[in-house]
Amino acid sequence: MDVRNCPRCGSIFAYRGFRLCESCRQIEDKEYEVVKIYLQKNPGTTVDKISEETGVSRQQILSFIRSGRLSEEVSNLNEMPLNCERCNKQILEGRLCKDCQNELTQNFIKAQANLRKEKNLMGQNSKENAKIRYLDKSREKR
Ligand SMILES: [Zn+2]
Ligand SMILES: [Zn+2]
Repeated sequence: MDVRNCPRCGSIFAYRGFRLCESCRQIEDKEYEVVKIYLQKNPGTTVDKISEETGVSRQQILSFIRSGRLSEEVSNLNEMPLNCERCNKQILEGRLCKDCQNELTQNFIKAQANLRKEKNLMGQNSKENAKIRYLDKSREKR
């Protein structure tokens, strides 16, 4: 049996694929429902206000938002409660702002293209690499 420490209350529980122990999961689910309903009924609110009115901690509300569990309701917020992990710009959900997401995707595509170019150059310059390329090709056929 896989036994873990609950990160919320610190008690030891049998791990069944959930991060939290049974009772904390029930509490968190209830808190989630309360926050969700409050957001739906109160457009233009802020995280501080929700925390004040529902008694759910600001940190817990932010963690719901960050995990994307409130992705529809979050548009009712009157603020951008999170910060981009890369440039610190204020964002509504997730970990990165749109700009950083785009930039990272672009960088990734560029890196892939460069890698391909390097491989081709190496293949042209060395007989050893040509052999490897031949082996790769014959492997692909199988
Ligand atoms: Zn717990
Ligand atoms: Zn950013």
